[in-house]
Amino acid sequence: MLRAFLLLISISAIMSTYDSSSLSSPETKRENLTWSKTISAEDCQSQNLKLLVPFYEGIEITDPQVMFRKLKTHHIDLMYPGTLSMPFFAWQCESSQNTWNYVAVRNFQNSVSLLSLKWQETAEGDGAFVTSLACKGNCSFFEGRSQQSFSQLKNPLRQEWSLKSPFEPLSKHFDRLHFYVHEWITNDPNNRLQMNWSIPDLVSLMQKDTDSENKAIHFVWGLFPGNADLGGVPFFNPESTRKAREILAANPRRAHLAWLNLRTNKFSIPALGLEVPEEQRLLSAAKLHRSGLKEQDQYTFRWVEMCTGAKAWQEFRLEQFERLVDLGFKVIQLDEFPLSYTWGDEPCFAEDHDHKPGSSHAEWQAAQSLLRRIAERAKEHGVFLTTEEPSMVTLPYTSGYIDRIANDEPDIYGFWTSTGKVRPVPLFSSIFGDVVTPYSDIDPERDLPEGWLKMTKRYPEQ
Ligand SMILES: [Zn+2]
Repeated sequence: MLRAFLLLISISAIMSTYDSSSLSSPETKRENLTWSKTISAEDCQSQNLKLLVPFYEGIEITDPQVMFRKLKTHHIDLMYPGTLSMPFFAWQCESSQNTWNYVAVRNFQNSVSLLSLKWQETAEGDGAFVTSLACKGNCSFFEGRSQQSFSQLKNPLRQEWSLKSPFEPLSKHFDRLHFYVHEWITNDPNNRLQMNWSIPDLVSLMQKDTDSENKAIHFVWGLFPGNADLGGVPFFNPESTRKAREILAANPRRAHLAWLNLRTNKFSIPALGLEVPEEQRLLSAAKLHRSGLKEQDQYTFRWVEMCTGAKAWQEFRLEQFERLVDLGFKVIQLDEFPLSYTWGDEPCFAEDHDHKPGSSHAEWQAAQSLLRRIAERAKEHGVFLTTEEPSMVTLPYTSGYIDRIANDEPDIYGFWTSTGKVRPVPLFSSIFGDVVTPYSDIDPERDLPEGWLKMTKRYPEQ
């Protein structure tokens, strides 16, 4: 019986005089909207409640009360664009015969959204699940229901989210990815760089010409130290450039992939004593968090988080993009994009960037101008763009994305799965897999959802 699950859905609209520092015309009336819903135990017992959240590919949560208790929190915020790949949320109660109820933001390109998931305890030890979806910008919501599996949501959502892309999915041209390691940095102080594939061996391998190999994307890791695009300096030193040219020139029929990081500026590889001079670090284009700049160690390098809405950083990234195209890379992975390092709403407060300070909405509008410019150049050069992790915001510009749902240890989902109440589900790919081709990380033993490209690590002895 569907009875009390049909709850009050409160939609509150707050008119706002939004600062038009972004790309839209000043006449556009902007709105901030919040949709919210409370599901109490009377409506649906927590153990019968299922939530579908587009966290990266997607997660399905059962029994949110227990999940929140195990996470030792009552409140989680997820931002779109960011960790939330679609501005969308769905829920169902077991007694509702597997009907998914959903709400989504219609204008997925020109607004930012924040999904809040909360558990409110009562004095009696009972509680209610409270969720809200807020959007900023010129936005509106749509709601609906769909029976059976979450994959059945594709049709109603796609009808509302009209989508046009001048780019074809990777799967029209490729059927696999091969991953090779040239050099990597070790912990051994006497032997910092170790080699897997030598350059002559890679050249010889690429020269072998078979039709099946030419349907593969090839990615050689470690052409530059630690695979870090260290402010563009080591990669474009004569040695790294020579290596890349030799491998790519060995067989022009083969498509090679390169990464272009968009969010971090790696400025040091301590193990190799490599460091970009302070004056070349573009610190004025770094993201200014409320707490200041964010610097961090990751693997073998140190980075500072940059603002994708700062012109100086955008120009630097475009310059690197052109260099990669000039070297002959056919697939360029926009690395660290559209991911952010925080899950919630954490805008940049810098006052001299090309966005209003403290406004995630304005920051994303500015970031999209970089995406548009890269996409225009990619189209001109016949280059495929892919991204790290899925996001609707990049759909009009890209051909594929890497996702780690099929990994042995999908650490992106570890926060959730540690509760025993959450499972990763291929939600994004079930809705958009025909538009952008998902590809897995390096784990050939795992079964992949239909339509995904498999990335395989290749060793010299094979
Ligand atoms: Zn900024």
